[in-house]
Amino acid sequence: MDCLECKKNIIPYLRYELDDEALNDFMNHIDECESCREDLEIYYLVTEGVGVLDNRDTDYNLSKAFSRRLSDSKSYIKRLCIRRTLSYAADTVSFWALFVISIMYIRMLIL
Ligand SMILES: [Zn+2]
Repeated sequence: MDCLECKKNIIPYLRYELDDEALNDFMNHIDECESCREDLEIYYLVTEGVGVLDNRDTDYNLSKAFSRRLSDSKSYIKRLCIRRTLSYAADTVSFWALFVISIMYIRMLIL
């Protein structure tokens, strides 16, 4: 993902509208690109700041909330990777179990 695409995805990210693949690409870019991360932080502070003003919650720490939001997104991506890996492992084990059972069954028919 390049900077232009990343900047296009800032608003969808803040609205939780990115799909898993786009979120992964977006977070990878945000980790590596200081400029886009700063843009994201500005958008976040502005959009969340308006919400905080509406709620009159004066103790709300926007910088901490921004860090928490990034951390939550990274945790979500990690869980997604683990889930995909486990799913792939389960598929592989299932395939080989079925393969071995098939071979054993064929051998029983032959002998
Ligand atoms: Zn960038």
